[in-house]
Amino acid sequence: MFSLKGMNALVTGASGGIGSAIAIALAKQGARIALSGSNGQKLRVFREQLHEEHGGEHVEITCDLSNPEQVEELIPATLDTLGGIDILVNNAGITRDNLAMRMKDEEWDDVIRINLEAAFRLMRASARPMMKARFGRIVNITSVVGATGNPGQMNYTAAKAGLTGMTKSFAQEVASRGITANCVAPGFIRTAMTAQLDEKQTDTINAKIPAGKMGEGDDIGAACAYLASREAGYVTGQTLHVNGGMAMLS
Ligand code: NAP
Repeated sequence: MFSLKGMNALVTGASGGIGSAIAIALAKQGARIALSGSNGQKLRVFREQLHEEHGGEHVEITCDLSNPEQVEELIPATLDTLGGIDILVNNAGITRDNLAMRMKDEEWDDVIRINLEAAFRLMRASARPMMKARFGRIVNITSVVGATGNPGQMNYTAAKAGLTGMTKSFAQEVASRGITANCVAPGFIRTAMTAQLDEKQTDTINAKIPAGKMGEGDDIGAACAYLASREAGYVTGQTLHVNGGMAMLS
């Protein structure tokens, strides 16, 4: 069940904490992955590790998602190297936190361009090959705060809520062609970023999570592998919240 054998996937932000776990989860189910990020060296190291630990002939494609011209080249490059695209995971994301009154235009623009606009461009470009193949799976990584809001993150929450709306519109446009589009919304996930929190900060966060602990990248990877599978073909326009019960949203 949930085999991705023979499928080609593009994962953005594949060298990051969650992106690498998503790539591993898809690869373990048999997909061949185009690993994308802005830092070619980080991608190369991860591709070699992925190959050593889980096998598979994966590729890396460097792309700076803040540059629209580079973004427009990413799907054609994926088609050239993999020969097709069955799965697109828009995972890359940045934060540029600031309170509303102090938020600079660049902090707003950077987050919207990388977290929202790049995902739009990649969905638009994958629509044609997926429609032609009458099959496609798009998974957009949002965040619990896109649904709840969070002080200091107007830019980030706008981008994540925007992704959710965009996903639903796209899902309706392409549903009859065998293409699904869904979101996975992580809560607090243990990554390099959260590893920097001290014990007191970690305890305070964990106390707010019914599961009593932060999630792992693998929890997000498993949700993505499910939504990317053939078996999830009747699930579209949805958000799968993976947050240990921290916010029970539908
Ligand atoms: P991360 O470890 O900081 O990884 C971010 C990834 O995005 C990196 O691979 C980075 O690659 C890529 N990236 C950043 N700027 C880029 C650019 N300009 N062009 C291309 N790639 C770029 O973050 P993470 O924690 O894994 O987060 C992954 C996703 O999950 C994000 O969308 C985030 O909003 C979401 N999320 C995370 C949490 C959490 O608790 N960690 C919670 C909710 C949602 P390069 O370094 O190569 O540029």
